[in-house]
Amino acid sequence: MADSNEQVLDAIVVGAGMAGLYMTKRLKDQGLNFRTFEAGSGVGGAWFWNRYPGCRADLPIIEYSYSFSRELEQEWDWSEVMAPQPEIERYLNHVADRFDLRRHIQFETKVTDAIYDENANRWTVKTDRGDTLTATYCILATGCLNEPNYPNFKNADTFQGDVYHTAKWPAEGVDFTGKRVAIVGCGSSGVQAIPEIAKQASQLIAFQRSPVYTFPANNRPMNPAFLAQAKKDYEEIRERQRGNEMGIANYSGPKKPADPNKPAKPKPSRKILELTPEQRKAEIQQFGINVLSGYVDTYFNPEANEIACQLYREWLQETLGNPQKADALSPKNYPLHCKRPVIDTNYYEAFKQDHVAIVDLRETSVEEVTPKGLRTTDAEYEFDVLVYATGFDAMTGTIMRMNIRGRDGQSLADKWRHGPRMYMGLQAVGFPNFFTVTGPGSPSVVSNVLHSIEQHVEWIDNCIAHLRANGIKTIEPEQAAEEAWIEHVNEAGKGSMMTAPSCNSWYLGSNVDGKPQGIMPYLGGTKTYREKCDEVVAEGFKGFALAS
Ligand code: NAP
Repeated sequence: MADSNEQVLDAIVVGAGMAGLYMTKRLKDQGLNFRTFEAGSGVGGAWFWNRYPGCRADLPIIEYSYSFSRELEQEWDWSEVMAPQPEIERYLNHVADRFDLRRHIQFETKVTDAIYDENANRWTVKTDRGDTLTATYCILATGCLNEPNYPNFKNADTFQGDVYHTAKWPAEGVDFTGKRVAIVGCGSSGVQAIPEIAKQASQLIAFQRSPVYTFPANNRPMNPAFLAQAKKDYEEIRERQRGNEMGIANYSGPKKPADPNKPAKPKPSRKILELTPEQRKAEIQQFGINVLSGYVDTYFNPEANEIACQLYREWLQETLGNPQKADALSPKNYPLHCKRPVIDTNYYEAFKQDHVAIVDLRETSVEEVTPKGLRTTDAEYEFDVLVYATGFDAMTGTIMRMNIRGRDGQSLADKWRHGPRMYMGLQAVGFPNFFTVTGPGSPSVVSNVLHSIEQHVEWIDNCIAHLRANGIKTIEPEQAAEEAWIEHVNEAGKGSMMTAPSCNSWYLGSNVDGKPQGIMPYLGGTKTYREKCDEVVAEGFKGFALAS
C-alpha cells in the first residue's frame, strides 16, 4: 500500500537533458502519468552545465540535432556549423516549450533513491527535496558525461582564489580579464576553453597530464543556402545517419552531377600504409592535418597508427615554431584514436602567445595545492583562478552515486563494483522495469550521441507501450543474455585503438582513481546495434524475461 503522501505514477524519468527531454515527449505522447526530475534549474543536461568559454558541438549541428520532428527541423535556424553552447541550450529550451514538456519536469530536484518493491512491482523514488513517489517504470536519462571528475590533489581546498570546473560552470560566466589563470586538464573541454580564456587572462598556465591529438574544427558561420538545402534534404540525411555505424551522414550538400569538362576533385588515400613517406607529407600539405584522422588503417593497425602519430608530432613541431612548447604538447605514449577525437579552434595558436604556458605533468608531478597556487616537484606556480577541465566520472559515475536497489534489496552500485553489467545497455538483471538511456554496453558516446539517444528512447518507449498493451507486468534481462552481451561488448572492443594496452581514457574508466577498468561503450557500431535491438523485439524480446 502506498502511504497517503506518496504520489503514484506510471513512470519516472531522471534527467532533462537531450535524452530526458525526448523521453518526456514520448511518454507524454503515450499518455502516461509520469514525472521527470532534473537537478539543474533548466533543461539541457550537459548543455546546461558546461557553459565554459569556447564550449560548442564537435559535430556538424545539422546532424547533432533531433530528428524526431520534421517541423522542428524546418523551423530552427543554426548560426554556425558547430553551434556554440548558448545556441544549443536555446534550442533545447525551444524544444521544451514547442512540445509543452516543462509541466512534466520538476527542476532543481535530484533523485537520491530508487528502490524496487517486488510485491507491489513498483519503484519507490525519493528526491533531495523530500518527494516520495512510486512508479511502475523508472528510466534513467542521466547522461554519460555528468559527474565531474576532480583530481585527488593534496590540500585541494586550501587555494584562496576562485575555483571552477568546466562541467559545472556558473551561469553568469567568469571574467578572466587581467587575471592569472591555471587550468588543469587538456582534453576536449580544456582544448576548447584555453584559447578563449587566453584572450582575457594576463597569464594562463595549462597543467597537462596527457597531450591530445587534436584537429581543426573548421567551424564557420552557417551558410544560409547550405542550411536551406539541408532542410530540404533532411529525410535523406537522417536515412544516411541510420545507415552509418557512427550515426553520421557526413552531409556536405546535394550531390552534383560530375562535370565532364572539369577534373575530378582530388581525394586523400584511404590507407596511410599504401603511401610513400613523401606522399604522406604531400597529403598533409594538400588536405591539412585532418587527413591523418581519416586513414582507415590507423584505426586497427598499430604500424599505420604509429606512422600517423609520428607525422602528427612533426607537423606540430613545424606549426608551433617553439620546440620546447611543441615537445610538451606532443602526444607520445598512446595511439591516435585511443581517446575520443578532439577538435579545436586555435588551440595551438593560443600557445604561440608568450602569456600562455604549458606544464608537462609527464616531466613533473603535482605535489600539492597551496593557498596561492600549485606546487609541482619542480616549481611553485602562483595564480588567481584555478580551472579544472578534468572531465567526468563517465557513464557510471552518476548512477553509482544514487541508491538504486532492485530485487532482494540488491544495490546496483554493488552489482557494478567490478564494472557495469547490463544487457544491451538498456536493462540489468535484478532490476525489472528499470531502463537506462545510452547505458554502458550501448554505442552512446562512441557515436553521434544524439542519434543513439533517439534510438534508445524510442526502443524504451515502444517497449513500455508493448508491456502495457499486453498486460505484461515486468521486463528484465535473462542472466545468460546479460553475460553474453558483456562478452560481446568486450569482443567488439578487441583490436581497437581504444583498448590498446597503452591507452587510458574515460571510455575505459582509467581517468578516475580506483574505478574498474574495461571498455564501457559498445564499439560494434550504431547501425549494427540498432539492427540487434530490432531483432530482439522481432523475436519476442529475446534475452528478456517478460512476466504477466
Ligand atoms: P577528458 O577528455 O577526460 O579530459 C580531462 C583532462 O584532464 C585530460 O587531459 C586528463 O588527463 C586531465 N586530468 C584528469 N585528471 C587529472 C589529474 N588528476 N591531474 C592532471 N590532469 C588530469 O574530459 P573533457 O575534456 O571534459 O571531455 C570529456 C568528454 O566530454 C569528451 O571526450 C567529449 O566526449 C565530451 N565533450 C564534448 C565536447 C563537444 O561536444 N564539443 C566538448 C567537451 C567535452 P588524462 O587524459 O591523462 O586522463
